[in-house]
Amino acid sequence: MESLNQVRHELSVNPHWCLLRGHRLVIPSSLTDQVVQLAHNGHQGMVKTKSNLQTKVGFPLMDEKVEELVHSCEWCQASGEPSNPAPAETEFGPHKPWVSASLDSGSLHNGRHTMMMIDYHLKYSEVEIISTLTADRVIPKIEKILAIHGLISEIKTDNGPPFQSNELVCYFESIGIKHRKLTLWWPQANGEVEHMMQTLNKVIRITSTCARPLVYAIYSFQRRNRQTPDSTTGRAPGYVSLGRAVADSIRHHCQWQLENIDDFQVHQRRTCVIRRANRRCCAKASNLNVGDTVPLKDQFPDSKFQLLLTRVLGLLCVVVSL
Ligand SMILES: [Zn+2]
Repeated sequence: MESLNQVRHELSVNPHWCLLRGHRLVIPSSLTDQVVQLAHNGHQGMVKTKSNLQTKVGFPLMDEKVEELVHSCEWCQASGEPSNPAPAETEFGPHKPWVSASLDSGSLHNGRHTMMMIDYHLKYSEVEIISTLTADRVIPKIEKILAIHGLISEIKTDNGPPFQSNELVCYFESIGIKHRKLTLWWPQANGEVEHMMQTLNKVIRITSTCARPLVYAIYSFQRRNRQTPDSTTGRAPGYVSLGRAVADSIRHHCQWQLENIDDFQVHQRRTCVIRRANRRCCAKASNLNVGDTVPLKDQFPDSKFQLLLTRVLGLLCVVVSL
């Protein structure tokens, strides 16, 4: 009543005995939630819901009530744009090559698949073609890579097939490789290999339009990957691996200068790249806690796909259960 008293000179009553402030209906506090719900019918965004109300009704704390409703609307949460990602951290990578690696698979247009393993220290990639994403096909290809580079200590994969299979888990255990599975439906957590896979897929698409065989695309991709300095490490993966500069079609005189980068400089470069990426995507620290439930993108709120946060592993990785 006090708020109405302040604007009493603007108040009037229409022929239906409804209280108006100017041309807008004055809503009693008992009905404000219902009116906000009506304005949000059709799940329009925050701005549209507010402007829908502002032209027709008036009541105290209208904007705050709309913001509260839209932020808590499960349908909007499940189908809208995700909130700002958590900032990425600079991980001081292993100081030796082929200690920690990342593994991912991709699909080819002919029904076959690619499997890529990247060493974290060198950013050196190995690519294999496999007919099916089953453990019995994947394991021999991993063995082939390990036969060339030696046994690694840790491998990161997403949760897609075949990396969640028991057979593969047992295989990693049997040879003493720690298997780190990354957050479900969050490919950014496996960023290096995901990004490299995108480049490989692009090279494959270009090669297939030029009617060249698939293996040509893969060897061509690997050759260029090994002779080109990585943007985060500043070192060509092939140089560190082979202990000599890998010749390419552009003989660059600064090659040796580029290669003489120590691990500290690599860490500094990586920190700069990550800071830039965090700024670009407006990263914001997450306020999620263990025990919170989060909706799964593009799933109906009343479906079984609500995720329960059970463990937080650093800023980028969370463990969730359905
Ligand atoms: Zn909504």
